[in-house]
Amino acid sequence: MIRVTCLGGAGSVTGSCYLVESPNNQKILVDCGMFQGGRQMEGRNKEAWGFDPKEIETLFLTHAHIDHSGRIPKLVKDGFTGRIITSPPTAELCEIMLLDAAHIQEMDAEWQTRKNKRQAGMDVTPLYTTEDAEASLKLLHPMERDQIITVEPGVKARLRNAGHILGSSILELWVEDGGDALKIVFSGDLGKKEQLIVKDPHEIFNADYLFVESTYGNRRHRTFEESKLELVEAIRYSVAAGEKIIIPAFAVERTQEILYILGEFLRGGLIPNIPIYLDSPLAIKATEIFRKNKKYYDEEARAIVDSGYDPFGMPSLRLTPSTRDSMAINEASGPAIVIAGSGMCTAGRIKHHLKHNLWRPGASIVIVGFQAKGTTGRQIVDGAKQVKIFRENVAVRAKVFTIGGFSAHADQGDLLEWVSHFESNPKVFVVHGEAVASTALAEKIQEKLHLVTHIPVWKERLILKSKELMAEELPVEEEIPDVETAMLNTIIDLENELKALRKKVKSTEVDKDMGEEEIDRLKYIQHELKSVFGS
Ligand SMILES: [Zn+2]
Repeated sequence: MIRVTCLGGAGSVTGSCYLVESPNNQKILVDCGMFQGGRQMEGRNKEAWGFDPKEIETLFLTHAHIDHSGRIPKLVKDGFTGRIITSPPTAELCEIMLLDAAHIQEMDAEWQTRKNKRQAGMDVTPLYTTEDAEASLKLLHPMERDQIITVEPGVKARLRNAGHILGSSILELWVEDGGDALKIVFSGDLGKKEQLIVKDPHEIFNADYLFVESTYGNRRHRTFEESKLELVEAIRYSVAAGEKIIIPAFAVERTQEILYILGEFLRGGLIPNIPIYLDSPLAIKATEIFRKNKKYYDEEARAIVDSGYDPFGMPSLRLTPSTRDSMAINEASGPAIVIAGSGMCTAGRIKHHLKHNLWRPGASIVIVGFQAKGTTGRQIVDGAKQVKIFRENVAVRAKVFTIGGFSAHADQGDLLEWVSHFESNPKVFVVHGEAVASTALAEKIQEKLHLVTHIPVWKERLILKSKELMAEELPVEEEIPDVETAMLNTIIDLENELKALRKKVKSTEVDKDMGEEEIDRLKYIQHELKSVFGS
């Protein structure tokens, strides 16, 4: 039997990471993403892996987004030296994204250290460094999609287009279990229908077990055409007022989609020819990778190329990689479109543009991506009258346009349709979603497709069996004894008990009640502990 442990992307949308263990004790990892959103969630990035990175020979990476790739440098830092198998565009995007992520980690640690110093605290070491990111890039093994390869003895795999972002892939994995090969499919992040630039997700018909994402498992997107009209409206609104249109956007995919749409608008005469600033060094580099990888475009994007246009370029586009060029944007008056990161307005150059424009009546803030709770972007979406930027309260007088139809994720309808192609009655694990979204999708899959579903929780270990074994026994999630993990878990529990006990002993109200009998008991426990390993 095969074991899959959900080490991330289970009960949450970030931190994607699944450990697959074969009957021969081969260990394969699917994705190694960063946990994002809030201190508690991000704290998981520092936790122990739950396996030894040295024992992993193969890591499959579904796509370049940081919530799927962002812990790879840490994995390498902790001893991973195997292969990272991924599509060629994902490998290219990883080069810029992992280095950027390492830079952010280093800056954060430096800032924390400086802050701690003022309170005589300790130095903070970054989660990983630029060197760790560089070492990770050496392990990338780009592999074209749609071909089956033998990864290790008894393990075969194939990547398929997931239609989410450039290079994004679904993973088909065959693992030998006795005489049989069990087929497990990991959807990765799936794109929606009409997703710009990339082709629709590949339809798959066969699997014994399916892991499907559920980011928008409870939602239906507004139509894409409606969203485009809203963007035109926002641009026209600020052009009429002689003000700027500020678009916070993620550097990979969303930025390129916005450029693509603006190109369409300009060619169709829907908006006037005003300056369009791409004000993000990372997005500029990412756009270059998109521009190079034409063979992965869908028909519509190819048609633009064939008619002699650059889908991401237009005469009025200005790239501003340097800080000086970026600052000059706010010195220029008159209408202009500014695309900058970060996508949730929490860091980066977008903060400067918000500071200069949020308070200006006639300006537009166009929100085209998901804004997590607690972010500046979310406050703006929720209608805050003023927001704090660089410790300054800035009034919100610009018009805020929240446009929901540009998501790069499949919605409930798209997800159901994609799962409906499976003809083999797979058992479906619904992952990569908040609880409400995963539950809604799981219910729909049961109701409409009559498949057995399960929503794994973080760190849950699943037992996968071949069809024959499944027929003999009911599908089970029961734990098979794993001595090492059980032992480690017990030790952790013990340590926690001891910590609590130490606290109690130190607190005054307890030490009077602590008699010799209790001390004897503790000594007895100590004696017993020693006998566990005969030491
Ligand atoms: Zn993604």
